Amino acid sequence: MTSSLFDLTGRIALVTGSSRGIGRSLAAGLAASGATTVLHGRETGRLRTAGEELAAAQPGAQIHTASFDVTDAEAVAAGISDIEGRVGPLDILVNNAGIQHRVPLLDLEVEDWDRVLRTNLTSAFLVGREAARHMLPRRTGKIINVCSVQTDLARPTIAPYTAAKGGLRNLTRSMTAEWASAGLQVNGIAPGYIHTDMTQNLVDDPSFNSWILGRTPAARWGTPEDLVGPAVWLASDASNYVNGQVIFIDGGMSVVV
Ligand code: NDP
Repeated sequence: MTSSLFDLTGRIALVTGSSRGIGRSLAAGLAASGATTVLHGRETGRLRTAGEELAAAQPGAQIHTASFDVTDAEAVAAGISDIEGRVGPLDILVNNAGIQHRVPLLDLEVEDWDRVLRTNLTSAFLVGREAARHMLPRRTGKIINVCSVQTDLARPTIAPYTAAKGGLRNLTRSMTAEWASAGLQVNGIAPGYIHTDMTQNLVDDPSFNSWILGRTPAARWGTPEDLVGPAVWLASDASNYVNGQVIFIDGGMSVVV
């Protein structure tokens, strides 16, 4: 009874940016819970390898791949339409693809500002809108936007990332305002500092690393696997009356100073 609440058998899930890092672990977690899962990224070699490795690790899992640029409106429309035709009706979308760009505000080029905003915020609008166009007539769908502790907290040198992740919280609320009555649930997860390719240079920096260990009540970096349970919950019937929320998964970082 309890475990069936989290069962995703028969559901179809797309996780953007799941060729590596957090997205890859979220995709593996959704697949392990029974979902037919579409891995996604731009670089097709890495994407193919990720698909093969996930299929080998989970015999019997239904794993597919799709490659498109989440910042390109036409490519997004074609990509979502291709998945709906080739794999089936999307039940779950995780807007995870994202990038970082670290430079002080006074040195920030407008092109880099635009690139981070397009990849980390506009992409969720583009992919979410295309998915919703298919989900709304079916009156069911779960969208999970991957936010960040930077949804709430700023640090020097990452202004466009912080602006985008703050915007993503309010996009989550706007999608809820427009789509919840038609059966779509849109929520966010906000990871703290997670050890992936994106943060490898910070892990390798002794002073930053010790700052993280001291600043995080749980006294460790997060792992992509730490995010799987909350994502499965938000993708499943166990969260059917949760709308427009952002859940912080950060070892407690956002609740202490
Ligand atoms: P990684 O750099 O490890 O992976 C990023 C993924 O996004 C890759 O699969 C990449 O695919 C894909 N991607 C990037 N740009 C595009 C694009 N334009 N079109 C399609 N795919 C794209 O990142 P993480 O796993 O660390 O981060 C994943 C998400 O989690 C991001 O939104 C990030 O902001 C968020 N996050 C990360 C934290 C951390 O500490 N790591 C903390 C809080 C939030 P490809 O290489 O093929 O382009």
